[in-house]
Amino acid sequence: GPILTVRGLEKSYNKLRVIKGVDLDLHRGEVLAIIGPSGSGKSTLIRCLNLLEIPTAGEIAYEGRRVENRFKSRGGNIGCGELRRHVGMVFQHFNLFPHKTVLQNICEGPVAVLKEPREAVEERAMELLGKVGLLDKRDAYPNHLSGGQKQRVAIARALAMRPDVLLLDEVTSALDPELVGEVLQVIRLLANDGMTMAIVTHEMSFAADVADRVAFIDGGQIAELGTADSVIRNP
Ligand code: ADP
Ligand code: ADP
Repeated sequence: GPILTVRGLEKSYNKLRVIKGVDLDLHRGEVLAIIGPSGSGKSTLIRCLNLLEIPTAGEIAYEGRRVENRFKSRGGNIGCGELRRHVGMVFQHFNLFPHKTVLQNICEGPVAVLKEPREAVEERAMELLGKVGLLDKRDAYPNHLSGGQKQRVAIARALAMRPDVLLLDEVTSALDPELVGEVLQVIRLLANDGMTMAIVTHEMSFAADVADRVAFIDGGQIAELGTADSVIRNP
């Protein structure tokens, strides 16, 4: 079955209904692009998938295990602590630790949260830095990197946790236009590796090219869902 399932998802902020009954499946190895107008609820939807936003109603399940709004997993259900280890996230504004080097940023999670030995983690971090093309930046601080480089570090940091699913929320929207391509290229590589991803993006030709399916969100609902060809007519 699907790795993530969403049923009847609702999210309101006070009286403002932002997500209005969304049903969605994400399958292993699939790249799902989430597109739609600004303010339509894309970011809220994707943030609900790892409980960064708490849904007002509805069900989310990870590998058939119901997601519960608590830290610890119990019974057959999964809490947000375990959920976030399986479901990684990359943000529009990078969220790197400014006082840590690139290597320290990438190693922090696996060492502090997963309690993996630093040496093994650093070895994996170097592989990831190679993958995102930043081996020479391992000792640099985020402030000394371009936006595109910061975002590639943020992707490497998310991957260092060995997620089964990666959520990307407008990861190129804060970048200067000439830096967008280098980040999209990394995401393309991940897609080719079979990484399961849900990607909120305004990059239509990229979505058309890389996504297996595209969900068009409008007014907090899925207005269209299908192949890139069927949903994006004029990339
Ligand atoms: P999108 O990602 O499609 O631009 P968002 O999910 O960011 O849309 O926002 C959807 C709607 O929810 C917008 O009207 C936004 O102003 C509102 N919204 C988002 N976060 C909050 C919040 N924390 N409190 C109140 N309203 C919010
Ligand atoms: P993004 O472009 O990443 O969606 P936004 O500028 O929409 O970012 O939102 C930034 C933050 O402000 C988010 O945490 C979002 O939840 C919150 N937010 C967005 N719209 C509103 C709103 N109308 N009222 C309160 N908080 C909001």
